[in-house]
Amino acid sequence: MVKTDFGPPKYLDMMSDLCKRNYGKWKYHEVLDTGTLVHVAENGEKLYTVRSATPRLMHIDTLRAFCDLADKYCDGFFRFTSRHSIEFLLEDETNIEPLKADLHAMGYSPGGVGNTISNMLHTQGWIHCHTPAIDASGIVKAVMDEVFDYYSEAKLPARLRLSLACCLNMCGAVHCSDVAIVGIHRVPPKVLDEKVAKMCEIPNVVAACPTRAIRPEPSKKSVVINDEKCMYCGNCYTMCPAIPIFDPKNDGAAIFVGGKVSDARHPAMFSKLAVPYIPNEPPKWPTVVKTVRLLIDVYAKDAKQGERYGEWINRIGWERFFKVTGLPFTDKHIDDYIFSVPTFRSTATFKW
Ligand code: SF4
Ligand code: SF4
Repeated sequence: MVKTDFGPPKYLDMMSDLCKRNYGKWKYHEVLDTGTLVHVAENGEKLYTVRSATPRLMHIDTLRAFCDLADKYCDGFFRFTSRHSIEFLLEDETNIEPLKADLHAMGYSPGGVGNTISNMLHTQGWIHCHTPAIDASGIVKAVMDEVFDYYSEAKLPARLRLSLACCLNMCGAVHCSDVAIVGIHRVPPKVLDEKVAKMCEIPNVVAACPTRAIRPEPSKKSVVINDEKCMYCGNCYTMCPAIPIFDPKNDGAAIFVGGKVSDARHPAMFSKLAVPYIPNEPPKWPTVVKTVRLLIDVYAKDAKQGERYGEWINRIGWERFFKVTGLPFTDKHIDDYIFSVPTFRSTATFKW
């Protein structure tokens, strides 16, 4: 077989012998504590997992330190979860506590297993991407510092998944997380005519707009945006750097609640709007942090054991949700987007 660097390597190549031997033959798993799981195979073999949150954007020295820990305790095998937690996969139970001690010494705290908050899934933010309305890593750090007790102690009614996407393009699973922050632009992009003429392919810019809000303006060799049709998605800015969408005064965060991916007990659910707008408040985003804490505290107190966030809201009703959280219900909560009707009768898995 010809070896190339296209595509991911075959998944089996990256697994330990124990995992390969028991692939598809796991009998059950148990949560040992908030940082540790054990998977038991049909033949009785056990695989221990130690999970810790990471900041997602990591220095190469940190990654090398993780590799050294994996070499020391688990034959070099670890993985990253879709929520940017690191999971060390151990065969020897006696290595669990020494590994945890080494992680603590590095400043990492095992947690996020069971009825806890796991690491907060997030996007690139101001560090990496071109269309963010809010930062990602900065807000996530501030939020996780505030809710650390829910990460390290299993005191929630069920698992709770947090996420953040820094714009509507939403690389961050906001639609299917229990509590989610999404960055929103609230004004149309500005067209810098002189630069558009020099830098951009006008047919591509026009074609990039999902709402057909852009038309060519041949007299200026530029484009014109119909503000009424614009939904502030930033797609045109992706095509053309001369149509910036940033606006420090108007950009900010919205908070959604009640989404989940799991099909357990109830089909997967889309999240819905709880807070329409909170302004950007770097570097600590106090209002976002306070609101997320409030949303989690109320759920922790009011939900029944085993009930996910969306299931809890469905049981008590949205009217009561706004009452118990004390959040204002505004006209912004009413979804009047012209294409939203087909989504009313749908879940993440079915439409009817
Ligand atoms: S959510 Fe938007 S701004 Fe954030 S990384 Fe994705 S595309 Fe970029
Ligand atoms: S921001 Fe989105 S909707 Fe608005 S003009 Fe650009 S591409 Fe169209």
